[in-house]
Amino acid sequence: MNEIKNSLTEYAEAFTSGESEVLRELREYCFAHYKNSSMLSGFYQGRLLSMLSHMIQPRKVLEIGTYLGYSTICLAEGLAEGGEVISLDINEETNHVAQSFIDKTEFRDRIQLRLGDAIFMLPHVAGPYDLVFIDADKQNYSNYYNLVLDKVRPGGFIVADNVLWSGRVLEEEKDEDTQALHEYNQMVLTDDRVESLLLPIRDGLMVVRKLL
Ligand code: SAH
Ligand code: CA
Repeated sequence: MNEIKNSLTEYAEAFTSGESEVLRELREYCFAHYKNSSMLSGFYQGRLLSMLSHMIQPRKVLEIGTYLGYSTICLAEGLAEGGEVISLDINEETNHVAQSFIDKTEFRDRIQLRLGDAIFMLPHVAGPYDLVFIDADKQNYSNYYNLVLDKVRPGGFIVADNVLWSGRVLEEEKDEDTQALHEYNQMVLTDDRVESLLLPIRDGLMVVRKLL
């Protein structure tokens, strides 16, 4: 089954348009220099984020968890005229690398990186957001959701990454991160202010649309 799945994944990637040169360089830089390179949205998920952004044509995107800026740049690709991406991260070293790659793109003036703990920064980031991408520390997913939902415009979206946690959400005995992600999935499903769709793509993306 896995073999079939892998060949189909390869087929899906082969029939997906390529990323920009800067994104390819960034991915290669990440694999060469970072042990935890799997944190980076890969090629395929990056193309999905870009496509979603093009579909939404957001004026304001909020990202929680920049890492090296790969997903940040993908999300910027579909911005409306005059739109911007604000991305939060606590790590100064990776933030520096992210900024250096963002500076090489046409989106440099439309992406703002902010350094610090997202929990404390979020109350100071003005809405309304058309699209929020939650991808930082897993135990705070529910806190992030609760801090941003009021500032998402009606009809706006919140996408959360890694919600299948390599399949560990199915385990009987869940560690803290797994439990937090499972609770996040349950919370959004039962929140009648939103409609949710769990996409089993890569590590799982929970897509939520705020109702009007
Ligand atoms: N979105 C990126 C990957 C993010 S990896 C991509 O798809 O390419 C997760 C990031 O969350 C790490 O860079 C880590 O520094 C950041 N992070 C962890 N805890 C945080 C916190 N409390 N506040 C802000 N960022 C945090
Ligand atoms: Ca992720």
